[in-house]
Amino acid sequence: MEVKKVLADLQRRFPNEPEYIQAVSQVLPTIEEEYNKHPEFDKANLIERLCIPDRIIQFRVSWMDDNGNIQTNMGYRVQHNNAIGPYKGGIRFHSSVNLGILKFLAFEQTFKNSLTTLPMGGGKGGSDFSPRGKSNAEVMRFCQAFMLELTKHIGPDEDVPAGDIGVGGREVGFMFGMYKKLTHEFTGTFTGKGREFGGSLIRPEATGYGNVYFLMEMLKTKGTDLKGKSVLISGSGNVAQYTAEKVLQLGGKVLTMSDSNGYIYDADGIDRAKLDYIMELKNVYRGRIKEYVDKYPTAKYVEGAKPWNEKADIALPSATQNEINGDAAKALIANGVIAVSEGANMPSTPEAIKVFQDAKILYAPGKAANAGGVSVSGLEMSQNSERLSWTAEEVDNRLHMIMEDIHANCVKYGKEENGYINYVKGANVAGFMKVAKAMMAQGIV
Ligand code: NDP
Repeated sequence: MEVKKVLADLQRRFPNEPEYIQAVSQVLPTIEEEYNKHPEFDKANLIERLCIPDRIIQFRVSWMDDNGNIQTNMGYRVQHNNAIGPYKGGIRFHSSVNLGILKFLAFEQTFKNSLTTLPMGGGKGGSDFSPRGKSNAEVMRFCQAFMLELTKHIGPDEDVPAGDIGVGGREVGFMFGMYKKLTHEFTGTFTGKGREFGGSLIRPEATGYGNVYFLMEMLKTKGTDLKGKSVLISGSGNVAQYTAEKVLQLGGKVLTMSDSNGYIYDADGIDRAKLDYIMELKNVYRGRIKEYVDKYPTAKYVEGAKPWNEKADIALPSATQNEINGDAAKALIANGVIAVSEGANMPSTPEAIKVFQDAKILYAPGKAANAGGVSVSGLEMSQNSERLSWTAEEVDNRLHMIMEDIHANCVKYGKEENGYINYVKGANVAGFMKVAKAMMAQGIV
């Protein structure tokens, strides 16, 4: 494989998909050496078949708002690769969603799912519909209209969606309800379902908890842990909330949380009671993070900025892609950050990653660090197939073990001669090899 040639070709074919090109550009150079040890891979043109999704479904979603107006959004499902299991990956509802973003997410998901050790292929879907500011009835009508089309393309052994930005328990419930109505079947086709209808305990917590478990493994390699360490978290949604919860449980101090309008900084730390307030604000009242300072006036709210200029020991980006650029990364390093572990998908730009790696801090890419979410989704699929549900303790233990395994795999493939662990390389090579071997065994399909 000649990385430059492959990338130039993808760039020529998909010039309007910068996030997809960015994700592929991050992976290929790190797997090149391993790939080239296997001439049979190149002969089978494996890399092109791995980069280009198996299938893309695109459709119009029309629905009626509360004023009786007909709104139209785009709907997508990218079924990237099913070499090791059914397509699996979340659904994102956000005004910024487009095909290039979903292709990047589906590509990343394929490697991530492979890393989990569970049998899941990679996919991702979504819409440029934003639930923010919509009534419950509008969100329900949109989800139902979306499912009128998506239902034809998913199933428990075919493609199993879940949540992502803008898609939480409420949206999954509405989508699952419509899926069930249309198919006349009750199957585990969605994960992240409500607990009363097949959802797994610990699924809401899994991405955030998993990221902190991974962080703990990284800190262990330096002989330290979270006790007394200050932490910057971005976002205030699902991943951010449970990241904060686990950081608190393990003795860390959470200084910041954010949304797309700005961030809050609480020098006294966001403690359990304050986190409960944020959870209620976001999950029940669907409010904005700036309301935190009305309740806790000693904290500050910074409009239109991200939290990366604040001083702390650890940064856990948990909002969205490309939220840490090169300058933000430099500010983090200058302020003494020792570890960055990604709850979000691709939150660091290539420039930021270079800054972290040049500074030799602990840096974990999302496909390893946030794989806890999809891992517990995989466990939800197992429970649904068995028609059993496991205790929270059992699921949490398995999550813990999976994150330790992912960390060990990253070390196995990513440890450099000077001892530095390149988690990006480790995650990419480990994720790639399993998918590659499965694809080779299955012929040209
Ligand atoms: P939520 O919708 O629950 O929360 C997203 C948070 O990020 C909100 O606070 C939101 O603010 C903020 N945000 C979204 N877009 C932007 C933006 N463009 N700029 C700044 N802030 C933004 O989503 P999740 O917590 O589920 O997802 C967060 C990240 O984690 C995503 O990258 C997702 O792909 C990734 N992830 C999620 C998993 C899961 O299990 N949910 C699994 C693995 C990864 P606002 O309210 O203003 O939009």
